[in-house]
Amino acid sequence: MPFADSSSIQSQVFVDHYRILGLDTTVDTDLVKKAFRRLAKQHHPDYAGGDGLRFLEIYTAYRVLADPERRLLYDRQHRDYRLQQAAGETARRRQGPPRREIPATRFKFPGDIKSLAKRGLLRRKFRSRDRRFILNIDYDLELLLSPQELASRLRVAVPVIARALCPDCRGSNPQCFACNGRGSYKSSRIIHLDLDGGLSNGQIIELNLRGMRPGPLSHFKRRTLRLKISEVVRAAG
Ligand SMILES: [Zn+2]
Repeated sequence: MPFADSSSIQSQVFVDHYRILGLDTTVDTDLVKKAFRRLAKQHHPDYAGGDGLRFLEIYTAYRVLADPERRLLYDRQHRDYRLQQAAGETARRRQGPPRREIPATRFKFPGDIKSLAKRGLLRRKFRSRDRRFILNIDYDLELLLSPQELASRLRVAVPVIARALCPDCRGSNPQCFACNGRGSYKSSRIIHLDLDGGLSNGQIIELNLRGMRPGPLSHFKRRTLRLKISEVVRAAG
């Protein structure tokens, strides 16, 4: 099974603005505004612990739900979405025991700082692509799994680097207040990958990200991601 089909990836086609703002579907505009202000303070990328993509989601949700006309249209889609979710939940329950959840912390980025420094590869002129070539690394991320996990049905949280265009200036204003003139935000997104066991040590799984978007006005930095499976005696976390 060298190639993970995109149907096994949980794509984010519909964005649940209510869930993003942590709101019930019955709230009035005042509460939408309050929720937005509270969350924006928490997640704006200029603050410590902020996250550009998270902020963008919050901002987009606010723009839709605080506008009565847009909200009316959106509410119709949201009702359909909830019906679909409920149907999917029933189907999943019929499929038997849940998959083992593997957190994103199980991934290792290839080439640790020490070994790069030893080979003189930390110098500025080296791009990470060149470093990987020299170190003979042909994958993007390494996934550490225990022997039992290699054989189990898994749901793996894969961290993927994404970039989001600034919603205020769309990358066109060097004086932009929202993005500090950067034009876009860099962040990481989690993609859920279902694997059905039968994995082996050293196996490479290629994740196809073509046509997938992490959210509105954003894209993944790469079209494919190569994941290397490594067997470890005891996997932490
Ligand atoms: Zn901007």
